[in-house]
Amino acid sequence: MALREGSRRLKLLFRLRHLPQLSRFVSVRSVSENVSSKSSASETADDHLIYTPEHFALKEALRKIIDQEINPYVDQWEADGIFPAHKIFKILGNAGFLGVNKPVEYGGLGLDFSYSVAMADELGNIRCGGIPMAIGVQTDMTTPALARFGSDELKKEFLLPSVMGDKVACLGVSEVGAGSDVSSIKTKAVRKGDEYVINGGKMWTTNGTQADWMCLLANTSDGPPHKNKSLICLPMNLPGVHIARKIDKMGMWSSDTAEVFFDDVHVPCKNVIGEEGMGFTYQMLQFQEERLWAVANIVTTMENIIQETIQYTRQRKIFKLPVLYHQTVHFRLAELQTEVELLRSLLHRATALYIKGNDVTKLASMAKLKGGRLARELSDSCLQYWGGMGFTSDVMVSRFYRDSRLLSIGAGADEVMLGIICKFMDTLPRK
Ligand SMILES: Cc1cc2nc3c(=O)[nH]c(=O)nc-3n(C[C@H](O)[C@H](O)[C@H](O)COP(=O)(O)OP(=O)(O)OC[C@H]3O[C@@H](n4cnc5c(N)ncnc54)[C@H](O)[C@@H]3O)c2cc1C
Repeated sequence: MALREGSRRLKLLFRLRHLPQLSRFVSVRSVSENVSSKSSASETADDHLIYTPEHFALKEALRKIIDQEINPYVDQWEADGIFPAHKIFKILGNAGFLGVNKPVEYGGLGLDFSYSVAMADELGNIRCGGIPMAIGVQTDMTTPALARFGSDELKKEFLLPSVMGDKVACLGVSEVGAGSDVSSIKTKAVRKGDEYVINGGKMWTTNGTQADWMCLLANTSDGPPHKNKSLICLPMNLPGVHIARKIDKMGMWSSDTAEVFFDDVHVPCKNVIGEEGMGFTYQMLQFQEERLWAVANIVTTMENIIQETIQYTRQRKIFKLPVLYHQTVHFRLAELQTEVELLRSLLHRATALYIKGNDVTKLASMAKLKGGRLARELSDSCLQYWGGMGFTSDVMVSRFYRDSRLLSIGAGADEVMLGIICKFMDTLPRK
């Protein structure tokens, strides 16, 4: 059934590829009226480093869903502090967007990771950070290890419905006492017969109040911290799983973030992903994709914020001149645009190397570090040029200012990225 559905959607995509008008369609897109595409006028399939006409077709189809099913409701979901993940994921799953790089036999499109990057890039056009993050958790943060190392049975039970949009997933790594130092997590899964009994808790769980299952990192033995952990598929409706609270946050309002407790939760041992004891390693691998995904997503939003700032400052006059015409303003925006282009180049290089099978941990960490820092600089500078309007909740720049702050903290803080880069540079103090 899933195989049939997966190949149907794959065929659909490839039919798009053979449409004679596709390349024309793609180049027209770059000069269309919308702000975000105007800024990437040079980005067409003809000369793109990693995107082909199929990537552009995928982005175009996704953009329609964003414009019709998501953006009109974002303000309401931001106010509600949650968005309907099951409804939106079903729409995305039906269209094939929740498994672009997942195997066809589990409902995916069987494409490479550059398509996930294209998708993350397009999701940057959603008018908040919370919903893209929630989608990214589903597609590129909870499922890479499962798709790569999970058993067929597990993939049928958890991957397939996640790809189809029938199940919402969440990632349980961080805890109250352990975020940056993943190796120090305390949640324990103790083997009893053919079950694990899980006790502990997770903090900052995106999608946590709505999720059907969690990709859980837990200690499955008392061995050394890098070898005693396993990733486990944990259904969230099991007795003993308690959603303690929905966390109130400064940004990412439409994304629900939960604190979760486990009180003697019984899970079959067959729910472990891959080999027991390999969870830390799998999670570190999973982080590579998560970090590249996050950068691809924020690059588009940063570009949109610059364009919206240009539009606003061009029509807003101070001292008889548009704000934009003051040299300090247009020079600063040119600097920021340059930085965005540099980051995009790094992202595309890392992606190209990754899909060829290389370990891009260093480049992905550099891109994530730069992405977080640039987002902070860019949101601060652009907000300034909006004056008092920038301080209101009505404009995208203030939402971006709040939402993008997370990038320097989540999925490995800036300092964690610096530590990884230093490891590759062999500059860490020797013990
Ligand atoms: C909105 C939101 C959503 C999230 N979603 C998820 C999720 O779905 N699943 C999940 O598992 N986690 C999630 N997280 C958790 C996130 O990954 C952690 O917050 C992050 O890893 C940092 O951990 P911490 O908050 O415990 O900070 P800590 O580990 O306490 O670190 C505090 C600060 O110390 C500094 N620091 C860290 N390492 C070093 C170092 N080596 N040297 C010097 N300084 C250092 C950094 O500045 C860091 O910000 C989410 C967090 C937020 C805020």
